Amino acid sequence: MRWTIGDVTVTKVVELVQALPLAGLLPDATPEALEPHASWLQPHFVDAEGSTSLSIHSFVVESQGRTILVDTCVGDRAIPGMDGLRGPSDFPDRLAAAGFPVDTIDVVCCTHLHFDHVGWNTRLRDGRWVPTFPRARYLFCRQEYEHWAAEPSGYALNVGDTVAPLVDSGLADLVDPDHAVTGEVRFVPSHGHSPGHVSVLIESAGERALITGDATHHPVQWAEPEWGMGGDWDPAMGAEARRRLRAEHAQGPDGRPPTLVLGTHYAAPSAGRIVGDDEGWRFVAEVPEPVPAEGP
Ligand SMILES: [Zn+2]
Repeated sequence: MRWTIGDVTVTKVVELVQALPLAGLLPDATPEALEPHASWLQPHFVDAEGSTSLSIHSFVVESQGRTILVDTCVGDRAIPGMDGLRGPSDFPDRLAAAGFPVDTIDVVCCTHLHFDHVGWNTRLRDGRWVPTFPRARYLFCRQEYEHWAAEPSGYALNVGDTVAPLVDSGLADLVDPDHAVTGEVRFVPSHGHSPGHVSVLIESAGERALITGDATHHPVQWAEPEWGMGGDWDPAMGAEARRRLRAEHAQGPDGRPPTLVLGTHYAAPSAGRIVGDDEGWRFVAEVPEPVPAEGP
């Protein structure tokens, strides 16, 4: 799937999709609580039983001659706490098939350092974790890195393999939470799910898009910003971040068009816009143009 935002293009490359009851991810999202939102959540984001498809994917952002990979999924490694379950080994092939072999990536950005956002930063070669993207600068929010480097734990248990080798070998830049990656792409702070979490804002030729990271895991959180994910680091801060992002990116009272929101874990089509009116808040899914097939 590919979207165009002014002069920027964004391509989604999927690693894993897992079906699960939404309440397993957002404890408040019981089938009864979802009922008032069913009309706009179905069919893309929940089914009639309140289950969803949790998608783990990367977004490749092309801006001003730079190819930027936002989040790097689980990786070819055991998933922490998942009893031997591993990520797939062919994700670099999928990136290449989408037009982005590993040596074309100029910048890798991680919205935060949980295992499903940093996995392909490195891969195991001859017993050592080495950079998967040999030409890339890796960008991490400084306060996110300092927090987890001091105490690898929970969802960030594997920073020692996925992030530390890049910092230690000088391939990483520890940056502020409003860091500008290009003139069109920058981080925006959305702390709460983790201590230094950032989202990624794209602004080009009068159009805007927001890559959420895990500021939200599911579109229902735009209507119910208090519904946190069980593993949020600071649930109140996470809810505040969602309210602030909603105010900034929903359709404006002045007729400002709503931002294209690209959800880092949203089921396909993974994109849409936040709309608020007399009927309340909802998220309107937007189906992108298909990626043209490559010629022979
Ligand atoms: Zn995640």
